[in-house]
Amino acid sequence: MVPTKERNQIAVFLSYGSEGILLDCGEGTQRQFKIAGISLTKVTKILLSHWHGDHVLGLPGLIQTLSSMDYNGKLEIYGPIGTKKRMEKMFEAFVFDKRINLAVKEVKSGIFFENNEFELEACPLEHGIEIVGYRFIEDKRKIDMKKARKLGIPEGPLLGRLQQGKSIELNGKKIMPDEVTYIESGKKVAFITDTVLCDNCYKIAEDADLLICEATYSSKLVDKSEEYGHMTAKQAAQLANKANVKKLVLIHFSARYKNTQELEEDARDIFDNVICSNDFMKIEL
Ligand SMILES: [Zn+2]
Ligand SMILES: [Zn+2]
Repeated sequence: MVPTKERNQIAVFLSYGSEGILLDCGEGTQRQFKIAGISLTKVTKILLSHWHGDHVLGLPGLIQTLSSMDYNGKLEIYGPIGTKKRMEKMFEAFVFDKRINLAVKEVKSGIFFENNEFELEACPLEHGIEIVGYRFIEDKRKIDMKKARKLGIPEGPLLGRLQQGKSIELNGKKIMPDEVTYIESGKKVAFITDTVLCDNCYKIAEDADLLICEATYSSKLVDKSEEYGHMTAKQAAQLANKANVKKLVLIHFSARYKNTQELEEDARDIFDNVICSNDFMKIEL
């Protein structure tokens, strides 16, 4: 919540092929990119959980810098209800010399983006203001070679088109992608921050290969945690356990914890494959 000497505010970068998905954008995020050696132009989508400052204060700076770089694409910004208005107010509050091409979209519940490689899903959480958790699901379209051969489709660009979910024409006959392809579900990544443990947490976390979850307090402060609309490390572990998660990474720690040992131990009582994040931690799935 508050940056400390050791820890910056929250931001998680999910890199997948040419897609760079930034989950939340706390103060100082653009400098963290510099230190991590990742170009800001790699960001294609920003997914905001909610508009508490510690999750969005880095946004104006990041957009200003992107405007001064050669950022040719359209930056998509997704956030809970109210995001459009808040973005407009942000552009009113600061003087931007140049704006980049932006698409701001509000999400509430369900799948809000899909292409031939993955889909993104949002689910409302409970934190006293509009807030959503996110789920990334790798969903690849694969060719069924048996079916393709049966239809006489030669290897090459035609198969490529079908794999992209597009129809083709062969010998005057139209072939739809569903006739020769199938969807294979791959990795799932869940992102849950700033909420009490609620039913939708289980929905988002279900069967995730990686659950990135807040653990603001240890279970010693469970009352305080509930009062401020947060989760304890132990609750994050309970969630991971019940939702059949493979790996749990804890984020968003109260500044009272100088190091995260207490939080990690609190979670490990319940769920073994858990680690507290630190700045620049990198995980490959
Ligand atoms: Zn927060
Ligand atoms: Zn918050």
